[in-house]
Amino acid sequence: MAVRPITVIGHRALHSPTKKVREVTDEIRTLVADMYDTMEAADGVGLAANQVGSRARLFVYDCPMPEGPNARGVVLNPVLERLGTPGPLGEEEDGEGCLSVPGEWFPLARHPRARVTGTDLDGNTVTIEGDGLLARCLQHETDHLDGYLYVDRLIGPVKTQAREAVKDRGWAADGILKWDPASTTADEV
Ligand code: ZN
Repeated sequence: MAVRPITVIGHRALHSPTKKVREVTDEIRTLVADMYDTMEAADGVGLAANQVGSRARLFVYDCPMPEGPNARGVVLNPVLERLGTPGPLGEEEDGEGCLSVPGEWFPLARHPRARVTGTDLDGNTVTIEGDGLLARCLQHETDHLDGYLYVDRLIGPVKTQAREAVKDRGWAADGILKWDPASTTADEV
């Protein structure tokens, strides 16, 4: 198992839809094991395969819950259902971040509840449903696999702020398309 570099906004893998996983090969198993390590090293709550440059439609998650242990696992070929109606935007409770836009946080109203259905590495059907942070995580990771970042969904002044922040960080201009959580923290990228 190994920590892999994480793609940064502007990297082509993040802006293209991923492809359905048709067979769980050794390569896929290694990818998933590495993604758990990478998510942990980067202190993330979720990681989509295109965040490590893969085109496989799968994500891992490790999401703190209000009570009890973290919700944790892998979903291949996830299908998302957004449930409920997004409320008015709350600057604090709606703050969202992404390991591919490292060190930045912007508020985004999400559906309060979400359900993802897919399969695990053994081909069993998995269904994850939740609200709060878990609902946000499920929507965020599925968006990744469809080729969208959360900053693509921002609206109003926050959208402009995010665009300027990304420009100021200079990642694309400086050719920084990946960062290595084994040697760097998100705030230092
Ligand atoms: Zn993300």
